[in-house]
Amino acid sequence: MNRRDFLQKSGAVGSAGLSLSFAHQQQPPEPQDQQPVEPEPQGRLPYTGPNVVLVRFGGGVRRRETIDFPENTYCPFIYHELYQRQGGVLFPKMEIESLEGIQTSHGQGTLYILTGKYDRYEDVTGRFLSDRFEAKVPTLFEYFRRKYDVPAHQALIVNGEDRINEEFYTFSNHHVYGVRYSSTVLSLYRFKTFLLREEIANGRFEGRELEQKQRELRDMENRDYRVENRARVATPQLDAFWRKWREHYGRSGMVNPRGDRLLTTLSLWALRELKPKFMMINYQDPDYVHWGPRQFYHRAISIIDEGVREIYNATQGDEQYRDNTVFVVVPDCGRDSNRSMPVPYQHHFNTRSSHQIFALIAGPRRFVPHERLAVDRTQQQIYVAKSIGEIMDFPTPHANNRSLLAAT
Ligand SMILES: [Zn+2]
Repeated sequence: MNRRDFLQKSGAVGSAGLSLSFAHQQQPPEPQDQQPVEPEPQGRLPYTGPNVVLVRFGGGVRRRETIDFPENTYCPFIYHELYQRQGGVLFPKMEIESLEGIQTSHGQGTLYILTGKYDRYEDVTGRFLSDRFEAKVPTLFEYFRRKYDVPAHQALIVNGEDRINEEFYTFSNHHVYGVRYSSTVLSLYRFKTFLLREEIANGRFEGRELEQKQRELRDMENRDYRVENRARVATPQLDAFWRKWREHYGRSGMVNPRGDRLLTTLSLWALRELKPKFMMINYQDPDYVHWGPRQFYHRAISIIDEGVREIYNATQGDEQYRDNTVFVVVPDCGRDSNRSMPVPYQHHFNTRSSHQIFALIAGPRRFVPHERLAVDRTQQQIYVAKSIGEIMDFPTPHANNRSLLAAT
């Protein structure tokens, strides 16, 4: 992605607070034939397995600044603590396979992780670079919630504020799975939707302004156009969560932390307020190096590392999570190593290095039995899916059937 594309895609960057009108950036396609949303099925099992925190070490991070040189790593907590001291298993030779049509980018990598399948993704809006992808096979959250009776607010994806396309990775179009088993997104976009819905309900607007605000809310909610029953998107648990958030940070969006620090804060709040069993955090800020100086990249890696440390510490201080939580860390894609560029890792243009990533799985020994091990074998990013399925004990029939842990 070049600078212009990046700026287009991240139009929200640098604008102030929540005054952004996401609703008008892109319109969703017209609703197509939608299947009625069925009630959540009965007879699912209670979940008693470990909690999983899946950290998308995102915005494209290659091995060099993370795991290749431990003494110079920009993510010392992840490397020295989670891996070395807490008994993690490191997969230093993980890659995104070089296949026709398989891209090394953020949305794609996220969906490879979530579905366990390499696939060509085409934007469903037909708009240039809007990266609005839909998974054709189930996501991990769907597998999980189809087997276990876990409410949607305990299967969470924590998203950044300037990648609206990622709001839609919560479920696939698979007919057996899909929206009934979707995850719930925590993001400022969702907060803004909540605020607007509440303000309209409380009679804050009237006349033409009311009409305009109602239209705006409809646009925002309809971005997730596959969801027919809007009432299911706003659950009492999420409304209560955002009400507390508003009490603490106000309405402006200016007081809360920004960027990837916001994702950490949302995740910490989620652990406390919602008690997720499975939470994916889509960190993204190292990607700012597309249009900024190299320090953006290094600093952003460290901010994610610090975030993982805080989240790990929070789980250790909470009975529900202590000794019962597995961390899985994996980048969405790598970055270039182009020595002819002033910043060799500015982009990720499907080069060898942008295929080269890593993964780390760390948790109590009964869930992650091989401690302090580096698995010196090439692994695929799509193996992460089955690995999480094994840890949480749910089948992943449409994902690649290799598990990272079996390979150890
Ligand atoms: Zn990028």
